[in-house]
Amino acid sequence: MITVIEVGTVKASRGERVTGHLEVGRTASGYTLAIPVIIVQGNDEGPTLWLNGAVHGDEINGIVAIRKVAFSVDPKELKGTLICTPMCNPPAFQVRHKLSGFDSLDMDQQFPGNPEGLLTERIAHILFGEIKDTADYLINFHTIGRLFLGRPYTVFKLVDGAKPELLEEIEKTAKSFATYLNCRVDLRTAAGELPGRVEGALDVNCIKNGIAAFMAEVGSGGRLEEENIDIACTGIRNVMKRINMIPGEPTAAEEQVTLTWRKFIRCNEAGLVFMKVKPYERVAKGTILAEIADLFGNVVEEVRAPRDCYVICARFDPVVHTGDRIAFVGSC
Ligand SMILES: [Zn+2]
Repeated sequence: MITVIEVGTVKASRGERVTGHLEVGRTASGYTLAIPVIIVQGNDEGPTLWLNGAVHGDEINGIVAIRKVAFSVDPKELKGTLICTPMCNPPAFQVRHKLSGFDSLDMDQQFPGNPEGLLTERIAHILFGEIKDTADYLINFHTIGRLFLGRPYTVFKLVDGAKPELLEEIEKTAKSFATYLNCRVDLRTAAGELPGRVEGALDVNCIKNGIAAFMAEVGSGGRLEEENIDIACTGIRNVMKRINMIPGEPTAAEEQVTLTWRKFIRCNEAGLVFMKVKPYERVAKGTILAEIADLFGNVVEEVRAPRDCYVICARFDPVVHTGDRIAFVGSC
């Protein structure tokens, strides 16, 4: 029977909350790069839930939500173990940027990592090495980019070769997080939906290792949004209730929508964008999502919904060039 849980140099016994760091590298000037770790081990046995934040360095809401839950859970009432890495990408966080300034890699495209690779690949390797034999469940916290306005939603992926029971458990767990919008992304058909190497995502690699993992997108990038942080805290506690780590029933969402198709809507013209819709809004095909005006004030483009859809996130930064992303939309 395991009674001590270890991550890096952090060790937690039954009934303990312990903090420390997982060292992941050094900078040229000699500073140690380290991921903060919080482990809360309950008095009683149960599952291990891993909460990971800021894999993109400018996504702040998840850091705060994870921290709030980690320090409010009572180890004496907890079953199982909560392991938290609220900020797992120190080089990117340090410069308030999505990507590391050292190697320009997107860390959520580098898993399971490479011990002989660039710094970001090595950090991914060290972190995933800790996660893969420890976690039963994992929530990877993101926000949408800092150019956008977002409200919380979940993303769960259908990964080829994963057991149907695992995928079912992931969907149920993600929905217990209780956000209005929930995205079921089938990786066999969603290729190209998002730019980048999706097979290197943390949740995908967890699923390949039998861990019930999903993403929680909890608002807007580069900002600290109390309302979205509260929703994220409730979501984490709901998941913990669902998997019997803490007592009580998860609070149900008033209404939930499962999106199976998603698309970034781009502008063809340029200038300043005037958004006509907000995140969570349901719009009919042809609805004007945004007007683009040139610097003389002339409306040069009306960007319209390509089909009946929900707005997942909307442009926040008003300056747009040709081809910029205006909104992220989805439909069932
Ligand atoms: Zn992100």
